Amino acid sequence: MTDRSTHAISILRTIQEVRQAVAEARARGLKVGLVPTMGALHEGHGSLIDLSVAECDVTVVSIFVNPLQFGPAEDFDRYPRDLEADTGFCQQRGADIIFAPTDEEMYPLKPRTHVEVTELTEGLCGAKRPGHFVGVTTVVTKLFHIVGPDVAYFGQKDAQQAAVIQRMVDDLNFPLEIRVGPTVREEDGLALSSRNRYLSSEERQAATALYRGLKEAAQLLDRGVKNPEEVQAAVRRVLQSEPLVEEEYVEVVDPSDLQPISLIGESVLVAVAAHLGKTRLIDNLLYPRFRSEFIRE
Ligand code: AMP
Repeated sequence: MTDRSTHAISILRTIQEVRQAVAEARARGLKVGLVPTMGALHEGHGSLIDLSVAECDVTVVSIFVNPLQFGPAEDFDRYPRDLEADTGFCQQRGADIIFAPTDEEMYPLKPRTHVEVTELTEGLCGAKRPGHFVGVTTVVTKLFHIVGPDVAYFGQKDAQQAAVIQRMVDDLNFPLEIRVGPTVREEDGLALSSRNRYLSSEERQAATALYRGLKEAAQLLDRGVKNPEEVQAAVRRVLQSEPLVEEEYVEVVDPSDLQPISLIGESVLVAVAAHLGKTRLIDNLLYPRFRSEFIRE
């Protein structure tokens, strides 16, 4: 393995700089991967960087806490920011460029143009976070136009986001490929999230209920259960067994359009959101594609 600690990494703060760096790479015939993030990087982000480094010649990690995708009562102000730690992390993983623009660089004017994916954004998190996905698809469109990658990497952890972005790329003919990596988890199954650091130690323990509920769902699906309500009820029971966990939703949907189903077919998405105190956590099971996250053989 190459020693990555001495690997050079550029931190670029302006659109012009990143465009120039990518143009130079492309002129040399190199394949460019983009990993969009909001920073506070952890192994979940790391796994996406690893995928990009393995598949592309140049890996760009964007770090931008996008104000457009936070609601007024959400955690934009307290969202963790640590560019120094993130830089070391990206360097270790072999990324080549960090694109870390300021709010002013990304939004010099209050944006009057938005990109909206309809229907897929209406349920699940979209129902509880009005405006969130318009903020996401608008900033991701900007990042795609600014960086111009061949491949962009997203995590299954944010299943609805991945589906919405894939649909946007298909609908609007973005000239790039979307790749979705599996959810990286703690030993006890909790999905890694930059927001896990908000949890008290009691909440942290209770938070495994999301994973445990989805594991129950995977077991039912393995047994051939076809009734979505049976799966939903089993996940709910696990969430309800933890007093610190307040369910926001448990949905069993078709992964292609994220709409509720009356009968489970070949592929199904079981998605969960819950509040633990002030912290909102999400997790999901995409069955059978990511079954192995829950059933270890
Ligand atoms: P964020 O910084 O939270 O906006 O996440 C940036 C990217 O990392 C998104 O594509 C997320 O889906 C992905 N991601 C976040 N947590 C995980 C995780 N535990 N496993 C895999 N990917 C993740």
